[in-house]
Amino acid sequence: TPIISFKGVNKVYNNGTVGLKDISFDIPRGQFLVVVGLSGAGKSTLLRTINRMHEITSGEITVEDEAIGDYKGKALRLLRRKIGMIFQGFNLINRSSVEKNVLSGRVSYYATWKTILGLFSKADKEKAVHALERVNLVEKLYTRADELSGGQQQRVAIARTLMQDPKIILADEPVASLDPLTTKTVMDTLKRLNQEDGITVIVNLHSVALAREYADRIIGLRAGQLVYDQPIAKVTVDD
Ligand code: ADP
Ligand code: ADP
Repeated sequence: TPIISFKGVNKVYNNGTVGLKDISFDIPRGQFLVVVGLSGAGKSTLLRTINRMHEITSGEITVEDEAIGDYKGKALRLLRRKIGMIFQGFNLINRSSVEKNVLSGRVSYYATWKTILGLFSKADKEKAVHALERVNLVEKLYTRADELSGGQQQRVAIARTLMQDPKIILADEPVASLDPLTTKTVMDTLKRLNQEDGITVIVNLHSVALAREYADRIIGLRAGQLVYDQPIAKVTVDD
């Protein structure tokens, strides 16, 4: 069964703007899915409905066979633990070390006060090192986040999400502010986590060319509607 399923999903923002229009599709477990479309097409909206950062107006989304629409409290926290998210802007604590940034993704009952006090167990620290190994940045453990290149900062953000052992990673325009070389290091990292750890990855991209390099499947949005859904070989840049 699919890990994520959209059934007749509509999203209308409070001001009347249509975010998503009658979206139905399934995402198989382990897929590397790229969502393409022009600015304003609904890519970000689509991604953010999966972890309930945005609420849908009608329809149903299921994650691992459960409808997520009614989740509250603990169920919602568990959903968000299952789903790592990265953004165009990295959202790191710039003045903190890479290690502290990664540790801040740790999921625990006590994460809040321990994070504030800077208290982490040996196991936490080992897990952070392991996460940084997964993104090829373990040598930057004690470097300040703002001393890293953009591509490296995005990989730290990926390592931070690995602290929650995500089954799904949502990446919202993760390379939009990066040059081609660092774009490749970030996309390669996502691909590696997909292939080696079986994490289902959903990435929003502007570039169809880049999508074709990495995706198992590309879906296209236009004005909130799903306008194509094809394995990469059939998508042309003209689409
Ligand atoms: P994309 O990620 O493809 O650029 P978005 O999902 O951000 O597209 O936006 C889809 C549409 O929804 C756009 O018309 C956008 O202006 C609108 N939109 C996005 N967020 C909001 C919001 N919070 N309130 C109202 N409209 C929004
Ligand atoms: P990556 O591909 O890992 O993002 P880059 O190729 O962009 O790394 O950067 C190569 C080297 O240059 C890195 O070791 C990085 O530390 C350094 N570097 C790049 N940009 C910056 C920056 N803005 N501030 C500090 N160091 C940087």
